[in-house]
Amino acid sequence: MTAQKTLVAPAHVGAIAPYQAGKPIEELAREFGLDPAGIVKLASNENPLGMPESARQAMLAAAASLARYPDPNGFDLKAALAERYGVPANWLTLGNGSNDILEIVALALLEPGTSAVYARHSFAVYRLATQARGARHIVVPARDYGHDLDAMFDAIEADTRVVFIANPNNPTGTFVPGDEIARFLERVEQAHGTRVTVVLDEAYNEYLDPELRFDSTALVRRHPNLIVSRTFSKAYGLAGLRVGFSVAQPALTDLLNRVRQPFNVNTLAQAAAIAALADAEYLQRAYEANKAGKEQLYRAFEALSLRYVPGYGNFVLVHVGDAPGVNLALLKRGVIVRPVAGDDLPEWLRVTVGLPAENARFIDALTEILSA
Ligand SMILES: *Cc1c(COP(=O)(O)O)cnc(C)c1O
Repeated sequence: MTAQKTLVAPAHVGAIAPYQAGKPIEELAREFGLDPAGIVKLASNENPLGMPESARQAMLAAAASLARYPDPNGFDLKAALAERYGVPANWLTLGNGSNDILEIVALALLEPGTSAVYARHSFAVYRLATQARGARHIVVPARDYGHDLDAMFDAIEADTRVVFIANPNNPTGTFVPGDEIARFLERVEQAHGTRVTVVLDEAYNEYLDPELRFDSTALVRRHPNLIVSRTFSKAYGLAGLRVGFSVAQPALTDLLNRVRQPFNVNTLAQAAAIAALADAEYLQRAYEANKAGKEQLYRAFEALSLRYVPGYGNFVLVHVGDAPGVNLALLKRGVIVRPVAGDDLPEWLRVTVGLPAENARFIDALTEILSA
């Protein structure tokens, strides 16, 4: 207590409630004396297929140059992304995960006396990044567990600089169709010009069914106040490497690069991301496995008469009532899922789609717990 009193930090930093990450397998093994090999982790929306072999090979080759700093401008990765998305390389910013992109946006645009708008039950990092800058939070009530864009538009105030939208959303898994996003962007720009920047966080984009996907880079071309962020952590299977990126017009991208750490994406991550981006077969396999796994979870929840929110990402939000109790019982059985009380969803659990056998382990454990 006394030590705390002598430390001098901004009040808004002291008030931050730290990010609650999914429990690591090793930690659960230690806590409950379990064999790590028997633990199933469905808690952090990681790709159950494991990293792409193509990325592993690229990393091994890149390891030869690790005495050197990484390419600070990510030339090769940006070239590959530019080709894939049909945008000039100077529209791209690389991040140490897309979390880093979100932090960079907050660093570039927020300060005390400004505000950020985001939805209730949306990604926790919006709150953290906003708070770290001493900016004000404008949290907009959700509609059917997802973004209510009309309410979010109405919530924008004179000091608002950033609006964060996760699409699909985490932890609820909801999705806003492309035409609604486009209409929102038109309204924001018409009413506020480029004073308000919209961050469209598409971490789960690759899991969308093809008919739902829309061309968000076309929206970036139309709107100088739009940032689209993507990640290699989810469908590309590279969460441990930390690499993400954003697409925005050059003026906005230039601002982001002013506050970005020069070497924020390491050499191995850059090499692996280039390989993963070219690995269409892996991505397709990830998409299909996820679709099948979600069906497996839905059927189980229906059989158990549990309410769930159909998810557009690689996870499902399920209503279990006594979430802390069910979570503890799952942990004792070696199954890690994600409680989401911190996201104002105290009766729900978020379950990442795993391999068929992993999903089955979770379903069996849950069935046992609920029928006890
Ligand atoms: C997982 C996730 C991210 C970012 O993850 P990184 O590993 O930092 O790229 C960003 N936004 C949402 C909504 C997520 O769920």
